[in-house]
Amino acid sequence: MLNADLHCHSNVSDGVLTPQALAARAKLNGVDLWALTDHDEVGGIAQARLAATENELRFVAGVEISVTWATQTVHIVGLQIDETNNALLQGLQATRGGRELRARAIAAELAQHGIPDAYEGALKYVSNPNLISRTHFARYIVELGHQADISAVFRHYLSDGKPGYIPHSWATLKDAVGWIRGAGGTAIVAHPGRYKYSALALGAFLDEFKQLGGAAIEVITGSHTTDQYPIYAKMAQDYGFMASRGSDFHGPHESRVDLGALPPLPAGVIPVWRNWV
Ligand code: AMP
Ligand code: MN
Ligand code: MN
Ligand code: MN
Repeated sequence: MLNADLHCHSNVSDGVLTPQALAARAKLNGVDLWALTDHDEVGGIAQARLAATENELRFVAGVEISVTWATQTVHIVGLQIDETNNALLQGLQATRGGRELRARAIAAELAQHGIPDAYEGALKYVSNPNLISRTHFARYIVELGHQADISAVFRHYLSDGKPGYIPHSWATLKDAVGWIRGAGGTAIVAHPGRYKYSALALGAFLDEFKQLGGAAIEVITGSHTTDQYPIYAKMAQDYGFMASRGSDFHGPHESRVDLGALPPLPAGVIPVWRNWV
């Protein structure tokens, strides 16, 4: 069974490791087919591809696009994209564009809740000035000792309804899928088990995604619990979607699942990489 890990983050977005270090770690962990999928950014792809070649790893160019659908944030992964495609690059730039002001607003909110200077604090963890994310704030809040780890931070801060949450409008689903497909890529719903939609709304979302040309959903992901695997395998089958697998690795000591360290896809689903290898 091919060890495909098609979802992870470098320090070009909110991961800890460089694209080079990720490639070396993927190789060490026995990954055969590896994708880098930074949030709203393809700035790490060229380095990742080079490092993958040096490590004799098969590489897939990817991205994870932030989308707003029915007032909630969903993530759409694009794989096998041409990362030089102009419409994709412009779309990603526009999607990233609001992050700076949002970060200032997050910091202002946190200051009102007893955490001053969080903008400067978060920046210490940012490698790419165009991509400041909630994860960078979370690392600073851990550094201050307010919470033990990142997931504890998100239980108390930065999430919808908690201090430091600033509503934001990301790309539309139609645009995100369009940019991915226009760049020759395959569009995949990231970690469907994480969204707070009703069953009805999730169904409507998946119908619309399919109608726009979306092709797959993540089934085995570090963002799903073990009991969610069969649920989303069945959902892939029911909707006629292919299935993807990816750790969503952000960094050592931080992510629950390491690169490549996932169970295989369940029997009966079609791997999204079926026609690539
Ligand atoms: P942003 O794109 O700035 O809204 O940040 C989203 C990122 O925050 C996600 O990609 C995750 O890396 C991180 N994140 C969100 N919720 C959680 C959570 N509950 N636990 C850990 N990380 C989270
Ligand atoms: Mn992230
Ligand atoms: Mn995500
Ligand atoms: Mn991710």
